[in-house]
Amino acid sequence: MREYLTLICKECSNRNYRTPKRSQETEKLTLKKFCKFCRKHTDHKEYKK
Ligand SMILES: [Zn+2]
Repeated sequence: MREYLTLICKECSNRNYRTPKRSQETEKLTLKKFCKFCRKHTDHKEYKK
């Protein structure tokens, strides 16, 4: 089964991206992504349910 991470914008908390989860990644993931709600590049973090 393939797991996905949901990435949320740190500024507006919108769920913008999904990325396949890599098993070796245990640290919290933070990525610079374009947020269409903020209309700029922001840090995105892993969404925890
Ligand atoms: Zn945003």
